[in-house]
Amino acid sequence: MTALLKQLPAIDRLLNAPPLLAMSDQIPRTLLLEAAQETVAALRQELLQLSATAATPDLSLEAVAGRAALLAAEKMRPSLRKVINATGTLLHTNLGRAPLAQCALDAIAEVSRGYSNLEFDLESGERGHRFAHVEELLCRLTGAEAAVVVNNNAGAVLLALTALAKGREAIVSRGEMVEIGGAFRIPEVMAAGGVLLKEVGTTNKTHLRDYGNAIGNETGLLMKIHTSNYRIVGFTSAVSGTELVALGQEHGLPVLEDLGSGMLFDLSPFGLPQEPTVAEAVAAGIDVITFSGDKLLGGPQAGLIVGKQAAIGKIRQHPMARALRIDKLSLAALEATLRLYLDRERAIAEIPVLQMLAAPAEAIKQRCQRLARKLRPVLGALVSLEIVAEPAAVGGGALPLTQLPGHALALTPRNISVDTLASRLRQGTPPVVGRIQEGRLLLNPRTIFAAEEPQLVAALRVALGNAGGLNR
Ligand SMILES: *Cc1c(COP(=O)(O)O)cnc(C)c1O
Repeated sequence: MTALLKQLPAIDRLLNAPPLLAMSDQIPRTLLLEAAQETVAALRQELLQLSATAATPDLSLEAVAGRAALLAAEKMRPSLRKVINATGTLLHTNLGRAPLAQCALDAIAEVSRGYSNLEFDLESGERGHRFAHVEELLCRLTGAEAAVVVNNNAGAVLLALTALAKGREAIVSRGEMVEIGGAFRIPEVMAAGGVLLKEVGTTNKTHLRDYGNAIGNETGLLMKIHTSNYRIVGFTSAVSGTELVALGQEHGLPVLEDLGSGMLFDLSPFGLPQEPTVAEAVAAGIDVITFSGDKLLGGPQAGLIVGKQAAIGKIRQHPMARALRIDKLSLAALEATLRLYLDRERAIAEIPVLQMLAAPAEAIKQRCQRLARKLRPVLGALVSLEIVAEPAAVGGGALPLTQLPGHALALTPRNISVDTLASRLRQGTPPVVGRIQEGRLLLNPRTIFAAEEPQLVAALRVALGNAGGLNR
């Protein structure tokens, strides 16, 4: 035992061994040192606990330095990383929602590498406003009089509520008490904004008279919320935006609508159910409409607020607007994405979420076949591969009942469990996230970029081949 312990390389020698030495221009010395020390300490423990029959670990300088190099690389690896989304859920909130269009990425790089006119009016040479970069575009695309953008839609709703109705009541239908992602719940957002919630109607039916009867001296606004992540079906009735606007005008009350995802054009040509568009809400006369930048719009995280000049002005001037303001990187990406919408065909061709929505089922099946042709020769002995009918979902709290027809690759590993395969893929480089169903791992090409296919094939080879360096 003492002899074995003595064989452990000294830290200095380890740091000067080729694999660690070669890393020294990329990985800070403190991390290399830490990795070397931890590797030697771990080996010492292994030796001390070694049973008489077990094989001794390889204590050669080369082997120990190799192990330390892997540990050092792991310490340096970014925590927030690119992932291959093979779940078939387009707007996966846990996987970062909408991937950005190339022009949005270019705009981020261009604007953030150096300085920009973020809040500077180049014409007058005076202070400008960050909203100005997207206001005209948003008004053009939606028909609204005015617009402002903030950090996300949750922030937009909170800000609009506070700016328009703090200390007063907001009247909301019981059928529209939305919860999104556990943290955004209408009653709680109201409370946080200092607005008193007045519920009217029932879960399935709310009539105009319910709103009318609830209006009193304390009423500050009427609110409509798009039930973006659930549907109430059967005997239902809800009040339209137009009717609510007429009622509001009768009583001098603004109407606020949280559209959730929000979409700039009609998606029914893609075979999708009709979602209310932002322009429709504007045309109905709604004073303030809020929606997300990174749901169906396919842009960066942002809260978009459009509507009438008077109400938007109050929102813009509210002190909380500064606390919720959008950052310049998101703003650059948002402007570039919105500009694509000026030409509908271009938007569909260049915005990844719209491409994924528009992809026909047949094209998805062909991609499955192409992937299977690449995988079978190299992995056929390790995994059984089938192509199965499997719909994709929109996700992100949008179009909850919609299934996008298509196919997926179904993998059944022969030598390891399906959970082990899924876990190795998640921990690979890049990580691949699929979906386990009935003992098989489903990989849905609808959310996999064509350019990612070689990486996916490589990741599967490593995960199934049990290659070194992956299993920790
Ligand atoms: C998604 C959603 C929100 C929250 O939007 P974020 O951009 O995620 O903050 C609020 N309301 C509704 C109805 C939504 O669908």
